[in-house]
Amino acid sequence: MTANAIAVDVGGTEMKAALVAVDRHRAEPLRWLRRPTPRGADGAATAELVVAAVAELVTELRVDASVDAVGVVVPGAVDEDRGIGVYSANLGWSDAPLRDLLAERIDLPVSLGHDVRAGGLAEARLGAARGMRDVVVLPIGTGIAAALLFDGQLYSGGGFAGEIGHVDIGHGEPCGCGRTGCVEALASSAAVARRYRERTGVERSSAEVASAVRAGDPDAQAVWQEAVDALAKGLLVLVTVAAPECIVLGGGFAQAGDLLTEPLRDRLEGMLAAYHRRPRLELAELGDTAGCLGAALLATEGLRTK
Ligand SMILES: [Zn+2]
Repeated sequence: MTANAIAVDVGGTEMKAALVAVDRHRAEPLRWLRRPTPRGADGAATAELVVAAVAELVTELRVDASVDAVGVVVPGAVDEDRGIGVYSANLGWSDAPLRDLLAERIDLPVSLGHDVRAGGLAEARLGAARGMRDVVVLPIGTGIAAALLFDGQLYSGGGFAGEIGHVDIGHGEPCGCGRTGCVEALASSAAVARRYRERTGVERSSAEVASAVRAGDPDAQAVWQEAVDALAKGLLVLVTVAAPECIVLGGGFAQAGDLLTEPLRDRLEGMLAAYHRRPRLELAELGDTAGCLGAALLATEGLRTK
């Protein structure tokens, strides 16, 4: 049976919305809308502006379609069970009851999810890890946080699970979180760009550093190797504790492809003991549509359990 969902992925700068036809094996976007994310003076005002904009998008996408449910995903810390945006540094809200605010304006069942976890759900059901039950999806961008699926179900720990970017691996460098030694202080795309600049005085994006690695630039290679090493140490924690069958690497950093996966696979393999489950390392397949597709899955799964 096919259900139609409207899915909205609220990003820090842009909102993506789609009408998505969902059945057991696929989620097909039928129509897309994109809008800039409105910004408010303070947290509560921003939450209100975002809620109003999402309600407007839903109205526009419903014009000529019957819709069964709405799924909205947001960044930051999200408590899916209570429908609350716990905290978002980018959007400025804290403890915002987003699902209830949306339900007041939209006469359809509304689910609220977390952007990274929803994207992970989409990769596990429809993308790089389809068919697998124990999956970690790791988008690497300005930060690093994992979506965890155990036995096919998302695990959110009240909104706090998956913060593998902030595991202290002992290198002692400061992190944006206020602590030191974090994985993402060496291995995020922002960290790679910053560390290359610190070594050379040259401003390069992480994608440009990746090109320089391929071209044989020794500074780029040193920064890259440290990033891969930090990432492998973070993955070792995940593999030891969660034993996934598959780890999916996504985000801007994973566009480096083999340049990332091959040394990472080798470094991780070198650290594993006999008792570890060997995970497959895959590159994400759904790109920046994963959040929206995941929001559509969350919306329609909510229907089936009611
Ligand atoms: Zn940190």
